[in-house]
Amino acid sequence: TSIYGPDCIYHSPRPPVHFPTDPNLSILSFLSAAVSGHPRRIALADSDTGETLSFSDLLSLIPRAALGLSRRLGVTRNSVVLIFAPNSIDFPVCFLAITALGAIATTVNPLYTIPELSKQAQDSGASVVITIPDLWPKVRNLNLPTIFLSPPIPSFDSDSIPITFFSDLIAHDGSEFIPPPIHQTDIAALLYSSGTTGVSKGVILTHRNFICTAIAATADQEEGGGGETPNVFLCFVPLFHILGLSVIAYAQLWRGNSVVIMRRYEMERMLRSIERFKVTHLYLVPPVMIALAKQGEITEYDVSSLRNLAAGAAPLGKDVMEEVAKVLPKAEIVQGYGLTESCGIVSLGYSFGKAQQFGSAGYLIPGVEGKVVCVDTLQLLPPNQVGELCFRGPNIMQGYFKNSQATNLTLDDGWLHTGDLGYFDDNGQLFVVDRIKELIKCKGFQVAPAELEGLLLSHPEILDAVVIPFPDDQAGEVPIAYVVCSAQCLLTEEDVQKFIFDQVAPYKRLRRVTFVKSVPKSASGKILRRELIAEVKANLYKN
Ligand code: AMP
Repeated sequence: TSIYGPDCIYHSPRPPVHFPTDPNLSILSFLSAAVSGHPRRIALADSDTGETLSFSDLLSLIPRAALGLSRRLGVTRNSVVLIFAPNSIDFPVCFLAITALGAIATTVNPLYTIPELSKQAQDSGASVVITIPDLWPKVRNLNLPTIFLSPPIPSFDSDSIPITFFSDLIAHDGSEFIPPPIHQTDIAALLYSSGTTGVSKGVILTHRNFICTAIAATADQEEGGGGETPNVFLCFVPLFHILGLSVIAYAQLWRGNSVVIMRRYEMERMLRSIERFKVTHLYLVPPVMIALAKQGEITEYDVSSLRNLAAGAAPLGKDVMEEVAKVLPKAEIVQGYGLTESCGIVSLGYSFGKAQQFGSAGYLIPGVEGKVVCVDTLQLLPPNQVGELCFRGPNIMQGYFKNSQATNLTLDDGWLHTGDLGYFDDNGQLFVVDRIKELIKCKGFQVAPAELEGLLLSHPEILDAVVIPFPDDQAGEVPIAYVVCSAQCLLTEEDVQKFIFDQVAPYKRLRRVTFVKSVPKSASGKILRRELIAEVKANLYKN
């Protein structure tokens, strides 16, 4: 069947899948039903300590943690619980326990500063925080009941804020847990994204979004779930990001695969973990692909178990994929594409038994439809023509939290307008070529120009500012700024950089500040961002 129908809509070339219609399904009940047949299989492993949880351990821990959250901390349906922690095997347990109560999880990058963290805590209405003691200096400012995933440092002072330890949280007998009725359409998570414009907003994701993403994202795997040999995924992609939480942790656990959790990426440790846990699948971000491409032949570790590498979260050059294929000739090297607003995934590469082709972002996952809209005429475009990519399907968010204006701008009759530019080829392969939205992607992390511009404008001597991406070999893109200062201003580039550095997570720091007389604006006062980006790129080529 054609991937481009008479209705000008692109369909997935993959075989169709069945999405459950029972309205009373939850993330947990759907997982339990899928994995109860292999209780002894390893569900989660900690790559550093070697600690493992079987599926039976996992299914018994979740109700215990849920009961602890409800009895000790009063978490109930629609409470928002903020997870501010690095990767650990307790992270997915907490996420599953929160959603099992009908409560809502919101996750925050541990690199966030106090103001960044406070902003999300406030916007989401979080009433409880899950964290680690190392992050207490930031968390204490929230003044919220806190759960520590590990024991505190000896000189710890809780400031009379109630602290619960994870070990106490799970001290209950889980058999007393009676799951509340949950509908697939209930909210499960609020993950933050700046979308096409402005500052970070809470992306509303339901139980159904996670359930359908799990089905569609794992549809190619012939092994795993129910089979004798599960796939083994290594996860150092942060669990606070949708790729880690939904596409790796939840989807793969549901599929019956084992997920090895790594606290943070480091090449040597990654290779050691691949050997130790016989990792078959690696989902990663472009900077790690680039590091692998530069690695040359891997002789010190046995990485022969690797069968599939998928890069996502930011663009990746074809040449890098070709280089990685030389380093790991037995593995399939693919790219995936997705957004927080699509519960992490829209497309994924798959060779369909043919020779590998590099450079595309893969094919639509089953159940997701695409359309390509001409930015100027709003007409729907046929294959090989570039326009704004739009997607519809059961993985697409419900909208932005408490922000109907942003929701209406982004969702149109169920279609998500991504702000990304791309096209489908005749075979249905998706190519993402550029971005029309403001977003900057640094090492796969989001940097919202509007946030940095707001901070710059809060400086008394800065009159106007624009922040745009600048190409970077390692990080993909980094933020740079053009600022207009008041007449007598003595600010230096370093002063402005320090002013921002003190207020934001390190990856958001401005790598360059240029003082200008004015910021290019349209007659209506809108920053001509794209023109500026084009000019910077053109100058880069000239040099
Ligand atoms: P996030 O919500 O943080 O996952 O960011 C989503 C954005 O990352 C997308 O809208 C794209 O701009 C970018 N992105 C993700 N995957 C890819 C890819 N394979 N190629 C190009 N850009 C990508």
